[in-house]
Amino acid sequence: MTGDIPEDIHVPKLPFIKSYDVRKDALSLDLAVSSADLENKVPDRILKLIEEKIQASAYGGKGEHWELVFASPQKSRSFSSDPTEEMVKRNWIRHGAARGQWIHGPQSVQLIRAFEQIVLEKIIKPLGFAEMIFPKLTPWEVWMRSGHAKGVYPEIYYVCTPKTRDPAFWEDIGDYFKVTGEVPVEMIREKIDGPIGGLCYAQCPSFWPFVQGETLGTASLPIKVFDRSGTAHRYESGGIHGIERVDEFHRIEIVWLGTAEQTVAMADKLYEAYHAVFEEILELEWRCARVTPWFMAQEGMVDTCKTPQKIKEGTCGCGERVGTTDYEAYLPYSDSWLEFQNVSINGDKYPKGFNVKIQSGADCWSGCSGIGLERWTAAFLAQKGLDRDGWPDTMKKLVGEPNEIFRFM
Ligand code: ATP
Ligand code: ZN
Ligand code: MG
Repeated sequence: MTGDIPEDIHVPKLPFIKSYDVRKDALSLDLAVSSADLENKVPDRILKLIEEKIQASAYGGKGEHWELVFASPQKSRSFSSDPTEEMVKRNWIRHGAARGQWIHGPQSVQLIRAFEQIVLEKIIKPLGFAEMIFPKLTPWEVWMRSGHAKGVYPEIYYVCTPKTRDPAFWEDIGDYFKVTGEVPVEMIREKIDGPIGGLCYAQCPSFWPFVQGETLGTASLPIKVFDRSGTAHRYESGGIHGIERVDEFHRIEIVWLGTAEQTVAMADKLYEAYHAVFEEILELEWRCARVTPWFMAQEGMVDTCKTPQKIKEGTCGCGERVGTTDYEAYLPYSDSWLEFQNVSINGDKYPKGFNVKIQSGADCWSGCSGIGLERWTAAFLAQKGLDRDGWPDTMKKLVGEPNEIFRFM
C-alpha cells in the first residue's frame, strides 16, 4: 500500500496479518491467507479496512454531523427538576435489579401508554401502518446482513445457550448455589455455547428475514409496519442516566419499504405527523436535525463523503435524502437537549443486505423510525412537571389520575 501513510497508522489485529512494516510512504503487510481467503477477497478487504481506519482517524475529533432542520418556539418553562428523581420520590418508578433498568409503577405506565395511544391515533393509524411482532433475540445472521456486525459489539447484551439441557450436566451448578447461596458464574461459563447473538439492539433488523429473498408485488407497496412487542437492550456502560439513558428500554419502531420515491414520501408524511404531535398535542419545546445516519454511527463508519454515488454503492449515507433526522427535546433541569426519537431513510441498505426486490425492478428502499418511550416520558416530564395541572389537555385526559396502589410504610 503506497501513498501518505500516517505515522500513527492503526493496522488491525487480525489472524491474517502476520507482520507489517511502515515506511514514510509505504505500508507492507505479510499476510497468511489460504486459497479460500484469497477467493473471499480477504487481502482486498484488509486494504479497504486500513484505508477506512486512516480516513476515520483523520476525521477523528470533528464529531458527528449535526445540522438543524427545525426548532420550535420556546415554550413556557414551569418545571426545572430532574424528572427521574421526582418520579422516584413519588414511587412512580424504582430501580430494577439489573443495571440500567427500571421497574415502572402504574403511574409511569399510564404515561407511557398515553404516549403509545397518541402515536397509534395520530401517526400509525392515519398513515396506515400494520402491527407486527419482531423477534427480540437477534442472531449474528441478522446483524451480518443489517451491517451491525461491523461495529455494535461494545453495546451488545450477548446471548448464550446451554451446551446441553440434560439436567445431570447442570446439577452441580444448582447444588453449588444450594450450599453457598452464590451462583457460580465461572462454572456456568464452562457449560454454555455461543454467544449466538444478542438481545434486541435496534428493532427493525429482525423484521427483514420476513421478506428476505422475496420480490414484492407493486400493489403491496409501500409496505408499512410497526413493532412494539418488547424491550431493546444496550450496554450503555457509565453513560446510564435517569430513565432517559438506560440499558433496557421500550420503543415503538416504524418500518416502511417501497420505491425510493415512496420511501422518501412516507418519511415526509412522518415529519409532518410528528410535528403536529409535538406542537399541538404535547406542546413540547423541541427541534430536529440531520445527523450522521444511525447505521453509519452504529457500524463505526465515518461521515466524510457527500456524494450520492457513494450512497448508491452503500459506502456512505450522507447524501440528499438518505440519512437520519434526530428529534430532540429541551431539558430545563440540565439546560441540554435529549434525542427522543428519529426518522431514517436508509436507502437500499436493508433491501440489499436481505436481498429484497420489487416487482418493477426499480431499487427498493426502506426507512425506519424509533420512538423511545422512556425518552418521550423524560422529555415531557422535564418540561411539564409531574403534576397534571400543568399538562396539555389531551395528556391530562389520556393519562387520568395517577393510580397510587402502593403504600410503603
Ligand atoms: P444516543 O445518541 O442518545 O445514545 P442513539 O443515537 O444511540 O441515541 P438510536 O440508535 O438512534 O439512538 O436509537 C433510536 C432511539 O432509541 C433514540 O432516539 C431513543 O429514543 C432510543 N434510545 C436509544 N438508546 C437508548 C437508551 N440507552 N435508553 C433509552 N432510549 C434509548
Ligand atoms: Zn430501525
Ligand atoms: Mg447510543
